[in-house]
Amino acid sequence: MREFEAANVELRERLPPVVAMLIAPKAEQCYRWRVQLDCGCVNEVMTRGKECLPGERQWRGPEHEWLQKGQMLCIHDDAPPALHQKIVEWGERRECTFPADPVEPRHGVDRQTWALIRHDEPHASAFWKVTLTCGHVTDVIAPDLEWKPDDGARRCSAKRVAEMTKEFEEFWASNSTGQDDRERDHMRRMLSQGWPSPEPECLCYTCPYVRWIVAYQRVGWLTPRAAEPEQQQTLKPPTLASLKRRLRQAEAEAERLRRQLTQSQRVDGL
Ligand SMILES: [Zn+2]
Ligand SMILES: [Zn+2]
Repeated sequence: MREFEAANVELRERLPPVVAMLIAPKAEQCYRWRVQLDCGCVNEVMTRGKECLPGERQWRGPEHEWLQKGQMLCIHDDAPPALHQKIVEWGERRECTFPADPVEPRHGVDRQTWALIRHDEPHASAFWKVTLTCGHVTDVIAPDLEWKPDDGARRCSAKRVAEMTKEFEEFWASNSTGQDDRERDHMRRMLSQGWPSPEPECLCYTCPYVRWIVAYQRVGWLTPRAAEPEQQQTLKPPTLASLKRRLRQAEAEAERLRRQLTQSQRVDGL
């Protein structure tokens, strides 16, 4: 109940009051499930009503975007690193104002660099919601308040790009641990495209945490209710899409079990 109430508070804070009132679920509509993901985790979730199966509805990602049917997020400390994905769609714009930066350096930046980059007065920035090739959503900062997606990216002169390329290559040659391969490849791509601003790609922090649902089990209604009369279930034939999804889920589960088996065989072999 506490989790249900906290989720409704979050919904009311995020949405206009009228919309929140219309879509916020009522406790008596909520049905509890245990869901197993292809990472092996078992999480409890709720759907609206007992007919809404967890693997047949869409769940949301960290930016409240819809994930694919059958996917859910599961946060693991050892998840693979985020990768760059191309931006395919520019969505909503919002403006944020920030106070002046302190004189003392922050975020581990050295004094000289901080003096160059710090804002000595309050300032505003524009953020755009973007959809990436993987379908996930994130925020991108615009080069300035006036910039619109139709303007396209701004680019540096060929001369400046050549200078920057030389500086970066020298830095990487002299500092092998300065940036990892992922960051270097990204920088090289940006340099080869004339150092565009905003960049046409960004890291997706959702991809590493997206998992497939492989099984689910009923727990029951959130609020206790009188016993329901046994209903004669009328079975509908499954749709092609749901069969395909179930096959994908079964394959993911088989793959997880195969990995587990290999691991335990390795342990046994020691
Ligand atoms: Zn997990
Ligand atoms: Zn993604």
